[in-house]
Amino acid sequence: MNTFERSGKHLAIQSWQKLNSKLFSGFTTREGGNSTMAFHSMNMGFHVNDDPDKVRKNRKLFSEDIGFPVENWIGSKQVHAENIVKVSKEDRGSGSLDFDTAIPDTDGLYTSDENILLTSLYADCVPLYFYAPNDNLIGLAHAGWKGTVAKIGPAMINIWQEKESVDVKSILAAIGPSIGHCCYEVDDRVINEVKVALDGDTVDTVYKKNAAGNYQLNLKKLNEILLLRAGVLPENIIVSDQCTSCQNDVFFSHRKDKGKTGRMMSYIGRKGD
Ligand SMILES: [Zn+2]
Repeated sequence: MNTFERSGKHLAIQSWQKLNSKLFSGFTTREGGNSTMAFHSMNMGFHVNDDPDKVRKNRKLFSEDIGFPVENWIGSKQVHAENIVKVSKEDRGSGSLDFDTAIPDTDGLYTSDENILLTSLYADCVPLYFYAPNDNLIGLAHAGWKGTVAKIGPAMINIWQEKESVDVKSILAAIGPSIGHCCYEVDDRVINEVKVALDGDTVDTVYKKNAAGNYQLNLKKLNEILLLRAGVLPENIIVSDQCTSCQNDVFFSHRKDKGKTGRMMSYIGRKGD
């Protein structure tokens, strides 16, 4: 099932919007922007050596598309770790029109405030989304292999339970488009950390061995298993089946584009009255 459905040039988590018509969450594609060459065309990342004016233009275009002014976006400098920060209206504009003002050293953001858009940037890594409807909490986390094995997904769940008194059974999670097991080859260094993250359990669906020291890793599946182990109910997790490397006309892919490419943006925000 394609849980991230087309909505014009971007993808939206339509099932969450059906639950709450004021909740907007999804993932941008590479379509419909101003950037050229490797960044063609909707590059949302300032840190990849694209022309910053073009990135600002792309961001403004998207802000008009979804109706959240770009001044109300919040982004972070992602470092492939498990740091999570609670943000509020006071943080509006962090990283929205340049890289320097982004919230430092952070791969997870959450908020209870309305009218701000949480954002996070991708070219193959796994975008995680969190929503606790009863507590009005929304969150995003960036999970490449390092963030995944550092358990940034369970970290968000734990913080919401411990600091925000959220019932884990009420938490909805979504795992967005990323590089699929079809295209994600990794070595022993990665698989050894995956085994630690799984507490030594063998889970057939997470990775397959191609040859000595060479594996296909299913990073979405690993995130799903870790979220289930953190207590999220299976029926509350949705998983995209889109591969950013296979669908290179739709997505930027760090692997497929050999490192020089743009960034898609995950987003989640609640509009106020
Ligand atoms: Zn693929």
